[in-house]
Amino acid sequence: MEGYLRVRASCPHCAEPLGHIRADDGPAYFTMLISGHVVVPLVLMAEQRWHPPMVPLMVVSVAGMSLLIWRLLPRVKGAMLGLIWALRLKGDEIQGDINRHG
Ligand SMILES: [Zn+2]
Repeated sequence: MEGYLRVRASCPHCAEPLGHIRADDGPAYFTMLISGHVVVPLVLMAEQRWHPPMVPLMVVSVAGMSLLIWRLLPRVKGAMLGLIWALRLKGDEIQGDINRHG
């Protein structure tokens, strides 16, 4: 990556072209899936144990969810781009040439 989410045109180490790989909204989907499965059980557990007032609970949980999404999204995108690359998909939902990576 260069910056937060922009994919480099090529790998700085081996010059493998990367800029053509498209993950579309997959990283956002998986980031929400993961962070929701972390934050929602914590909110439910806090509600059952301590019965906190609604507004502070919502403020803390939204802040925690935002922090988690901010930290996870580039990593999930990198993992998804790596998977797309490893499976030799071209980003157009058609199986790529099996010999593309040599
Ligand atoms: Zn490389």
